[in-house]
Amino acid sequence: MHTHLCHHAEGLPKDLARRAVELGLSEIGVSEHNPMPNDDFDQWRMYLSKLEEYLAALDDARAAFPDLRIRSALEVDYLPGHEDWIRNLAGRHEWDYFIGSVHYIDGGWDIDNPGKLDQWRARDAYDVWSAYFERLTAAADSGLFEIIGHPDLPKKFRFMPNRDCVPLFERFLDVASARGVAIEINTAGLRKDCREMYPSLEFLKLASARGVGLTFGSDAHQPGEVGMNFVDAVALAKEAGYRDCLRFEKRRVRRVPLD
Ligand code: ZN
Ligand code: FE
Repeated sequence: MHTHLCHHAEGLPKDLARRAVELGLSEIGVSEHNPMPNDDFDQWRMYLSKLEEYLAALDDARAAFPDLRIRSALEVDYLPGHEDWIRNLAGRHEWDYFIGSVHYIDGGWDIDNPGKLDQWRARDAYDVWSAYFERLTAAADSGLFEIIGHPDLPKKFRFMPNRDCVPLFERFLDVASARGVAIEINTAGLRKDCREMYPSLEFLKLASARGVGLTFGSDAHQPGEVGMNFVDAVALAKEAGYRDCLRFEKRRVRRVPLD
């Protein structure tokens, strides 16, 4: 989940926490878009100078809602060559988990940016999907992340390849399985043009068959989105064969049954 600090979301951690308590959730995690060494990298992430404010805001939320467990996390863009920077961020706080996400493929294009649909129109969809999954597979192999975020993100605007993408999914999932990296069900996809969760049922079945761990995320960008569609998400996980999911504390994993 995100806060006002990334410039495209609303609310403080305590606003997210208030909504979580209303819903009866026992544990949440906030995973702001990670800072880059230079704040002008793009317009949709937390500034490095705001890291302390972020962590203090998480503590404020814990103080306001002491019965709710609130995990400190980041959603970290995986870019080749950024490994040392990601380790630098990891050393700045006792984080509970890092979600590794790919938004940028080659050429510095963030493929989920609604302002850059021209790039989708100019390129072959399969080429984009395969470049994305190549980078996502490297993210899983990097050892830097507990969870890989919204794994089939390229479907967001429905530029679907006319070639079978299952081999791309399988290569990624084989690496995730071997490296013990989880994926998330991210319900935000339901609120995008693709109108389905990330990832698809087909993808989840391949993941479950390989024993790839699972977490649940609303990817809330405002308090009203906390926990959205989680009942459906659990049903989807079960349909794909999952019987449990994972929780993280101080980057250590715990397995929790699905009901
Ligand atoms: Zn965001
Ligand atoms: Fe993301």
